[in-house]
Amino acid sequence: MLHVAIVGAGPAGFYTAEALVRRLGAAVAIDIIDALPTPYGLIRAGVAPDHQSIKAVDRRYHAVLAGGVRFVGDVTVGDGGVALVDLLLLYDAVVLATGAPHDRPLGVPGDDLPGVFGSGSFVGWYNGHPDFADLEMPLRHAGVAVIGNGNVAIDVARILAKTPEELAPADLAVHARVALATSAVRHIHIVGRRGPYQASFTPKEMGELGDLARAQPVVDPNDLPDPSGDAALDPGLRKVVAHLRAFAAAPPRAIPVTIIFDFFTRPVQIDRHGDALRLTVERTRLDGDKAVGTGDTRIIDCGLIVGCIGYQSAAITGAGFDDSRGRFGNDAGRIGDRLYVTGWARRGPSGTIGTNKPDGAQVAERVVNEVVAGGRAGGAGLDVLLAERGLRPVTFVGWQAIDAAEIAGATHPAPREKLVDRDRMRAAAHGATVC
Ligand code: NAP
Repeated sequence: MLHVAIVGAGPAGFYTAEALVRRLGAAVAIDIIDALPTPYGLIRAGVAPDHQSIKAVDRRYHAVLAGGVRFVGDVTVGDGGVALVDLLLLYDAVVLATGAPHDRPLGVPGDDLPGVFGSGSFVGWYNGHPDFADLEMPLRHAGVAVIGNGNVAIDVARILAKTPEELAPADLAVHARVALATSAVRHIHIVGRRGPYQASFTPKEMGELGDLARAQPVVDPNDLPDPSGDAALDPGLRKVVAHLRAFAAAPPRAIPVTIIFDFFTRPVQIDRHGDALRLTVERTRLDGDKAVGTGDTRIIDCGLIVGCIGYQSAAITGAGFDDSRGRFGNDAGRIGDRLYVTGWARRGPSGTIGTNKPDGAQVAERVVNEVVAGGRAGGAGLDVLLAERGLRPVTFVGWQAIDAAEIAGATHPAPREKLVDRDRMRAAAHGATVC
């Protein structure tokens, strides 16, 4: 029997488990360990709550657990939990699938002021991640600046722009639902340091902005390149640019919210102004593919700034970390002897959920080819270790109890009301009550 521990119960971890089971069948025993009491990683805490069709992939991961892969939730690997060295003693192979949970700072003066959040915090807040559920989001000012020209920036802008009715079918955390329903936000700036041809948006997400009930996307036609260049773009970006051209040509609608694309604009400084923020931005121009400042600055007044400029992984003692790239150092998924990495922790925060599938298959193949079963204790040994340390994991059965409680607590048409507090999750999982 080959014993494998996968650290991280997100898509990268599940696709690796799925591939290992496909290759080895009953000859492999897998534990998926996660610091949260709930599985599914970014499907639960990252994917936008109004994108339920994307979240439906969790059925596939559920099937992996139902097929016998163990979920060991509420167990941190690293400081304060189980050390990586412990796992390497217990399991024949360890695969890190811990994603990229930390926000990259904006790197401008004032980026640590109250009211400035990274997308991990903001998205975690509206998705009910227990680490961010208690944040107070300043939504009492008309202006918001969302920094970055990727899909996370679009998600953040769209959630801020939607009406309560539009958000009703989402699995938005209830505290966010209440805060957004009374939000004073009217002008959402999407600040991109380069232009439409350099944006990382995808067509579906861009198209959705054109169909919002109370919000209109605004694009300055002067920021759009000459249309003669569109034919040479890759098909996805060509569709994105077509949407931007349509937004630029659309007449203003009599609706309260605008989503303003500030292309060729980079943040240079953030200052506090009363209980609001002043974001100084500088007009840029392209020098080759790079944005360079022009010295032409202006102020965007806002109550909230959300940096959506990418993420970095969290280091774990015992696994070499590449600080400059914010991920684990690795050679095609191998960190060292019997230690592997997959997903964002391996390649950085890029790609869709599905990108993790070939990544997981490749790492599974390496494990199958390179690791020999060594008669280690595997999951039974982990259970003993956890008991010795007084740690009580949330199992698949425990997660199903949390899931059932969330579904039972939902207000139609929301699919669930998420538990956002670890103690409540534990109580649901272990069948206890919390006052
Ligand atoms: P992303 O696509 O890499 O976009 C990051 C953006 O931040 C880029 O526009 C980048 O500009 C900008 N940026 C980076 N550093 C900056 C700085 N210091 N100052 C100003 N701007 C800066 O990242 P993401 O939006 O976080 O998305 C992560 C991944 O998840 C992507 O692959 C994305 O497609 C995926 N995702 C998919 C969906 C979906 O399919 N619905 C939803 C959300 C996320 P430059 O290009 O100039 O560097």
